[in-house]
Amino acid sequence: SPTIGVLAIQGDVREHAVALAESGALARPVRKAEEIAEVDALVIPGGESTTMSKLAVSFGLLAPLRERVKAGMPVYGSCAGMIMLADKILDGREDQETVGGIDMTVRRNAFGRQNQSFEADVAFAHAPGAPVHGVFIRAPWVESVGAGVEVLATLTAELHAGRIVAVRQGNLVATSFHPELTGDRRVHAYFVDLVRDAV
Ligand code: GLN
Repeated sequence: SPTIGVLAIQGDVREHAVALAESGALARPVRKAEEIAEVDALVIPGGESTTMSKLAVSFGLLAPLRERVKAGMPVYGSCAGMIMLADKILDGREDQETVGGIDMTVRRNAFGRQNQSFEADVAFAHAPGAPVHGVFIRAPWVESVGAGVEVLATLTAELHAGRIVAVRQGNLVATSFHPELTGDRRVHAYFVDLVRDAV
């Protein structure tokens, strides 16, 4: 089984580790730069992207993360992790850095006050069967994508119909929502399959 790290500087690390293990991967926390070299792939969890970004810079993780992403390491980011994988962000902190790698513009806290947290079914392109139950917690949305980006899911709920909430570019996957908080492992299984094909 592939070894998949979970960036463990901030956010819901444990839930992703459990979801990965239940999807057939060996999960381990990644806190130091040298640990990035020891995993086949990485998950960047949900949490608070401004804090995560600050800590990634001060722990010396940003440069090695960018290098491995450029070299093709598979990475899956949920929510704050999606923001970390975006080439451009809107409504970020002024000096907020991202790892980048996905040619998209993501808007932080995009769903507004009334809907900062909500749940909605999501038709996920590579999860056959019933829709995935999307848990959105002060979630970002994808405002626009470049030509190389595959849209994996859009919202169908009336209020936000058509909003892009999951994407893939090469070996990078991002979701606005938190599949690690539900028992449904189809999104993690999709990523683990991608990792198996890539390594
Ligand atoms: N609003 C958070 C941010 O900007 C993301 C929230 C989450 O990951 N659940 O980072």
